[in-house]
Amino acid sequence: MPIHDAATPLAAVQQSIARAATLAQREPGDVTLIAVSKTQEPAAILPLLEVGQRHFGENRVQEAQGKWPALRETYPDTVLHLIGQLQSNKAEDAVALFDVIHVVDRPSLVTALGAAMTKLNKRPPCFVQVNIGNEPQKGGCAIADLPALLAAARAAGLPVAGLMAIPPADTEPAPYFALLAKLARDHDLTGLSMGMSSDYETAVTIGATYVRVGTALFGARA
Ligand SMILES: *Cc1c(COP(=O)(O)O)cnc(C)c1O
Repeated sequence: MPIHDAATPLAAVQQSIARAATLAQREPGDVTLIAVSKTQEPAAILPLLEVGQRHFGENRVQEAQGKWPALRETYPDTVLHLIGQLQSNKAEDAVALFDVIHVVDRPSLVTALGAAMTKLNKRPPCFVQVNIGNEPQKGGCAIADLPALLAAARAAGLPVAGLMAIPPADTEPAPYFALLAKLARDHDLTGLSMGMSSDYETAVTIGATYVRVGTALFGARA
């Protein structure tokens, strides 16, 4: 019984993404669902892998190192996304394990990632995280610092795929998604990593190319 339990929420989220994309006259296939599996045990992740989900998001390098090598032996086409703040001293571990890095937010991290990519000869696509609500406690670069950080990332050889943001909690997210989309357009970037369980449909209507959904797929985290 438990083995296919997660398939139902997955289908529901996929349908909601398709509906939102169609509403916005976008192709549903242009939106990639990242299943955010932080804190989830392999037993909770496997049912999603079994029904074909391949993009997963993790917050912590160490936790992902513990879980994913074994899962990947069975599902080698898994695409792992790093979505949690990254310390520069973990940059090499992150480049070794992850396929997409969504949290490039400061010059020191750009330097560390550039060095790690050169050393490992692996260049995973990167998103620059923007502190879109200008919140002191949040990760992400200030909007004013974005042009310089993008230039530094490109100079360091990071393949910049787009922008990522987490809007402020408990406010209408649409204006923040729209602002991120505008910043991406201004910088000729097509990737937009935005939208979580509570707001991914809104994000899709505003142009998200990656949505990061945990709770709606796995239930509330412990
Ligand atoms: C945990 C997390 C998510 C998923 O959040 P849910 O509300 O559980 O969907 C998405 N993005 C980031 C950066 C996260 O840390």
